[in-house]
Amino acid sequence: MFKKILIANRGEVAVRIHRTCREMGIATVAVHSEADTSALHVKLATESVCIGAAASKSSYLNIPALLSAAELTDAEAIHPGYGFLAENAKFAEITQKLGFTFIGPKPEHIALMGDKIEAIAYAKQCGLPTIPGSGRAISSVEEALAEAETIGYPIITKAAAGGGGKGMKVAHSAQALRTALHVAQTEAKANFGDDRVYLEKFLETPRHIEVQVLCDSHGNVSILGERDCSLQRRHQKIIEETPSPALTDSQRETLFQTVTAACQKMGYLGAGTFEFLYEKGQFYFIEMNTRLQVEHPVTEMVTGIDIVSEQIRIAAGEKLRYLHNFIHPRGHSIECRINAEDPETFIPSPGKVTEYFAPGGPGVRVDSALYPGYSVPPYYDSTVAKLIVWGQTREEAVMRLRRALEEFVVSGIKTNIPLHRKLAATNAFHQGHYTIHSLEKYLKEGHL
Ligand code: ADP
Repeated sequence: MFKKILIANRGEVAVRIHRTCREMGIATVAVHSEADTSALHVKLATESVCIGAAASKSSYLNIPALLSAAELTDAEAIHPGYGFLAENAKFAEITQKLGFTFIGPKPEHIALMGDKIEAIAYAKQCGLPTIPGSGRAISSVEEALAEAETIGYPIITKAAAGGGGKGMKVAHSAQALRTALHVAQTEAKANFGDDRVYLEKFLETPRHIEVQVLCDSHGNVSILGERDCSLQRRHQKIIEETPSPALTDSQRETLFQTVTAACQKMGYLGAGTFEFLYEKGQFYFIEMNTRLQVEHPVTEMVTGIDIVSEQIRIAAGEKLRYLHNFIHPRGHSIECRINAEDPETFIPSPGKVTEYFAPGGPGVRVDSALYPGYSVPPYYDSTVAKLIVWGQTREEAVMRLRRALEEFVVSGIKTNIPLHRKLAATNAFHQGHYTIHSLEKYLKEGHL
């Protein structure tokens, strides 16, 4: 097993990874920008290295600085967390070439799944159902209009190099598609330096259902169940839960079998997530994330498996310890992403946290980077904490979530806790009756 791991990330995920490393007796190296000198992940780590200026480009995305820090501290392995370089195939490859272990999938799988057009084509070959779509990058308005006629409106544009909901525009008519394509290509170019955009049928009432997998280097595949991440704003997840309130056991089994076969065919390694939209009894693959997911704790709560620990063990060449194929969950878990932002305008709200009280009690877990007196810097992602609850039943989990949200105090900055409180109080949430469009609809209609 590794003696020392460098965590190439910041914030709550860096703290999360540190915690598992310490439980495994592994020393940690925190890296940080000049803006993060007093961040919690730096305070907790065994040692820390400043890798550059505040802008991510100069620090958390600075590959030479990260690898120098690993060299300097004699770290044996690098955990990328999520965001930043976690899905950068080049980073994984260089890390390995320099003799460090990359705690993640094979670089070729990161590259394959990083291109959504290729990912969908590959998923089809693996027998995964996909959404009707262009299946290739669209190069002209005429081509888009012709494809849209075949697919049928409404249409959604998506960036091949996409992520974070960027490049997604919905068009209900040919006229709207002309504009949508142009806006999507511009957005894709600006965000990813790659303007390739493809088309998909826009589904009007789907749920977002994803499957967590773990695969070792001995050919074993383990499915850790699904997560329902349908509550989203601007295609970004806000609340996630497991099991999905929408699935039957037999739908689940069929889905898990298909995903297992895909993993085996790929020869996938490490933790990964297959994302699907689910509508009218049908699953449609949309993408695969070749990394730890923000919402991984809900799976940990119902399976009792520490996914970060498994990632580390897999990277060290160990066999999966859970070989009974599909892990059967116990109880129900829900996660709320706590963002430093105005709960009504959604404008980021960095600044000094004056008061901080995290809820506790039965079935409550908080993964957070906050502490009283900490200043949230304005340069990075606004997710500063996650509240995760567990209950024997969904009903108990929902009641616990409401209670924990009541207790949660973060002052000095604005957070979306008030929005979560309102959302958790709605009847639709209580019943589990929602789709990927529900949250935006509630906001538009003034219910939240
Ligand atoms: P990203 O990588 O940018 O997050 P995804 O492909 O994972 O993009 O999609 C993010 C979300 O966008 C999905 O969870 C879903 O809510 C919405 N979405 C994606 N594709 C479609 C589609 N064809 N129809 C309706 N909504 C979609």
